[in-house]
Amino acid sequence: MYEIRFYRGNYRWRQKQANKDNCAAYVEHHFNASKNQAANYTLVITAYLASETSKNWGRWYANRINQEFGIPLGGKDGILVGGYNGRGNGNLKHTEMPAILLEPLFVSNPQHAEILHSEEGQDKLALILAESIIAFFPDGSKIGFSVGHKYKTSRPNDRGAMVYGGGTEADFAEIILEKAKNILEDYKPDDKTATPEIDDFPDNDIRVIKDGKEIWRHTDIDEDDEIKWDQANRILYITTN
Ligand SMILES: [Zn+2]
Repeated sequence: MYEIRFYRGNYRWRQKQANKDNCAAYVEHHFNASKNQAANYTLVITAYLASETSKNWGRWYANRINQEFGIPLGGKDGILVGGYNGRGNGNLKHTEMPAILLEPLFVSNPQHAEILHSEEGQDKLALILAESIIAFFPDGSKIGFSVGHKYKTSRPNDRGAMVYGGGTEADFAEIILEKAKNILEDYKPDDKTATPEIDDFPDNDIRVIKDGKEIWRHTDIDEDDEIKWDQANRILYITTN
């Protein structure tokens, strides 16, 4: 029902191969890291030009991580479109299918690292990923997996961030992806399928974020309003039409 393919090489190359194979979806697995050990949120990155499917899939995954581990949602409702000022976009932008980049935990956070170091935590992470794929791509087919950092031609020794208490970001990402692959390849469609619940919520908010913390949010706004940032005077004009 599902056939999982791992792609190696540089990020652009991986995506091109997944396109050639007609993958139904593409996942690149990372973990977050910060100098601040208390950093604690879950996040999925989509490309700037990602489809609604990618965004909904990413939100669904992040929300499940939030429910399972009690980790707050980062970005906007768990997703960051275009990555951190563009970082992460290149890992996804060449794909022709829905694609997400996962950052479910901080490897620098001791509590998050404990999840990663436990078999139970790894199994849960793999299951949530597998369920998200079953929910959004119920017809099966080929799914592309990419281990972040590892297997790049350009920097073959890159393993990403060090995990608190031992190990590397990339090695743990690979463990989770291997586990998810096993779940998906054993999956039978008559199993209880997770159905994606996609809420009808407005997502036109304008937010001001200072040092990673939201300090202002304007929610009374919709697509018909005009928004203009006056760079010279540093004023944001919102005009209701
Ligand atoms: Zn990474």
